[in-house]
Amino acid sequence: MDMSNRLRGLSAMVTGGAKGIGAAIARRLAAEGVRVAIFDRNPNIAELLARECGNGASVAAVDLTDFARLRSLIAEQGPFDIVVNNAGVDQHAFFTETTEDDWRRLLSINLETVFAVTHATLPHMQASGFGRIVNIGSEAGRLGSRGGSVYSAAKGGLIAFTKSIAMENARYGITANTIVPGPIDTPLLRRAVEEGGEKLLKAMENATLARRLGTPEEVAATVAFIASREAGYITGETLGVSGGMGVAA
Ligand code: NDP
Repeated sequence: MDMSNRLRGLSAMVTGGAKGIGAAIARRLAAEGVRVAIFDRNPNIAELLARECGNGASVAAVDLTDFARLRSLIAEQGPFDIVVNNAGVDQHAFFTETTEDDWRRLLSINLETVFAVTHATLPHMQASGFGRIVNIGSEAGRLGSRGGSVYSAAKGGLIAFTKSIAMENARYGITANTIVPGPIDTPLLRRAVEEGGEKLLKAMENATLARRLGTPEEVAATVAFIASREAGYITGETLGVSGGMGVAA
């Protein structure tokens, strides 16, 4: 297979694609010839990014927990050959300080949105005989996280969900995999560091074998491979892009 054509001509939606890891994924896919739709609640930033991406990139301005609007935007801007469920919000509170509302909010964006997106996008993939579902989990979903019990529950659920989707859809030429980042230098991580200070930053770096933060581009490079035609024999996997964090734990 010609490497330069591994993604050319495909269409993709990237949730939470305006910033951080999602923005890097949108840029990378577009650079490899994918028509990208950026689903995010920050339309102004997303518009600038879509212009930078070119290649027919579009913006779907949506709070992803508004499932009715989400579904109608997928119908308008799809169909999609590649779905990257990337949007997520984290948590910085011990379980005893966590309310039922926190539980519902964290589950809603980190997990239920994936349900809505997958439901709305699978029929096209099944009919066309090709599809790539790339879900962005977290090492917290494999290892647990102090101060992130609900976030970890959602991300752990995402891993099991993804494996199940892989099992049910292999016969349609669809793969489903979870990429699990370690600490990646994004606005989300920088907010956590503002709260936790330099000590938290050092602890995050030291939790990896690489002893550094990862870059959004390093995650995006992995997503581009997993989403490509080249990666058809990889499905149901949980792949760390975490500087060896899982090994170091
Ligand atoms: P960022 O917060 O930097 O970017 C996420 C984007 O998604 C933002 O534009 C955000 O908007 C948007 N978004 C969040 N919730 C919604 C929503 N309900 N509707 C629409 N848009 C929404 O996050 P990262 O790039 O760091 O994280 C991306 C993914 O990677 C997440 O799933 C995260 O859990 C995961 N991850 C990140 C790690 C890291 O260290 N950065 C580590 C492990 C996993 P807004 O800014 O308004 O919230």
